[in-house]
Amino acid sequence: MEPGADQLHILFFPHLAHGHMIPTIDMARQFARRGVKATILSSPLNAPVFYKTIKGDRHLGLEISIHIIKFPSVEAGLPEGCENLASTTSPEMFNNFYKALSWLQHPLEQILEECRPNCLVADVMFPWATEVAGKFGIPRLIFHGTSHFSLCVFHSLRQYETHKNVVSDFESFTVPGLPHQIKMTKLQQPNYFRGVEDEQTKLTNLAIQSELKSYGVLVNSYYELEPAYSEHYRKVIGVKAWNVGPVSLCNVDIESKALRGNTASIDAHECLRWLDLKQPNSVLYVCFGSKFCFPDAQILEIVNALEAGGQQFIWVMKDEERQEMLEGFERRMEGKGLIIKGWAPQMLILDHEAVGGFLTHCGWNSILEGVSNGVPMITMPLYAEQFYNEKLVTDVLKIGVSVGAQECTRSIDAKKFSLKKGDIENALNRLMVGEEAEEMRSRAQVLKEMARKAVEEGGSSDSDINALLQELRLNCF
Ligand code: UDP
Repeated sequence: MEPGADQLHILFFPHLAHGHMIPTIDMARQFARRGVKATILSSPLNAPVFYKTIKGDRHLGLEISIHIIKFPSVEAGLPEGCENLASTTSPEMFNNFYKALSWLQHPLEQILEECRPNCLVADVMFPWATEVAGKFGIPRLIFHGTSHFSLCVFHSLRQYETHKNVVSDFESFTVPGLPHQIKMTKLQQPNYFRGVEDEQTKLTNLAIQSELKSYGVLVNSYYELEPAYSEHYRKVIGVKAWNVGPVSLCNVDIESKALRGNTASIDAHECLRWLDLKQPNSVLYVCFGSKFCFPDAQILEIVNALEAGGQQFIWVMKDEERQEMLEGFERRMEGKGLIIKGWAPQMLILDHEAVGGFLTHCGWNSILEGVSNGVPMITMPLYAEQFYNEKLVTDVLKIGVSVGAQECTRSIDAKKFSLKKGDIENALNRLMVGEEAEEMRSRAQVLKEMARKAVEEGGSSDSDINALLQELRLNCF
């Protein structure tokens, strides 16, 4: 579409964490491809990731750019340069990071004054953004970065408080009012439902209010993946929502997949060459998201499970200081296992036919990337809403096997994890070989086809985005 007087200008403001920035950039690119002028707000040290990704789009003439917002790290008691949640290494830094985020309200107001967009898409972490957008008379859309399913579980527990009726943290209860019978325990709930009165609980309360007051919600999902929950969220929770995903599928060529999110620690072609030598569905991809570092004891359990399981694997480790501990393991696994220390080109790996399983921490982006590539999963949720995502994968979609994680914690409290070698190995064997594995793989393949159709012209997500843009144009001009 040619830019004209009715060209929408949308400002995207993601949380400063990879799991939120990455899908927001993809979302902004999708909107720009439909003729929208897209401006993405980011801090000085996070912005380079965005520049690399959007360079190609700008060459094609799309109107997409970055606007810098200063992040008050030092003022909030963080070290200079700490601008990404992944750089926080202690609970104190973690809390200060959220404090700094809450101070971005005024700078956002100044930017809106300067840029005068027609609409603000702001992360759920910025609950005050609805009010700020209101001052400028523009709609605020929320980006949660999670599934409809998780949003529905969350709202159900908030309304019915079933978790309060159990006698122990381990007692299982059914989440009420949902289209499927979903059983969970209190221990699997985020702090918000466990009576912890911290900064995050306060933020969550504010986020709920702003969700109910905002114009609506953009969900990185597609209708066919969770139709009952798309409907439930719109009708029962009563919030307007548009499915815009899977947003990762806007990265089509090798280069954009390899560049996504960060500079990869392995050459993309080297990684592909390693995978090219393997049989289809023979490699397990192991990655626990963008920021998580396990304690040594947990790493050893995973090492032993992978070695005993005998499957080929790619394992992404965020902590580069484990060199000594892994030396012998790496030597023994040569040719069979590839360890990537740092950032992996996840999109490229999951898209390769050699990859037949994904051991994941159940971050929503990772789940959706697994689904869009037809890869069944071993679920090992750790924090936030990841235990909800696990239920979607194992109980609703039936494309995964749980390791049996019991306790939800905060990403910063890694010490707690103690999943055993035997449980990981069992899940690995169930997922990679045998009849059950084949059934999960074929269900995942069907979801992959549906995901790809959803983002094609006329597909469900494509239509949702077009309908939203049409509605915004009617409201704005
Ligand atoms: N990711 C990646 N390479 C890595 C680690 C993560 O490309 O080495 C990407 C992954 O593809 C996903 C995002 O980072 O898009 C992580 O988001 P997710 O919601 O899965 O987890 P989080 O990091 O937010 O816990």
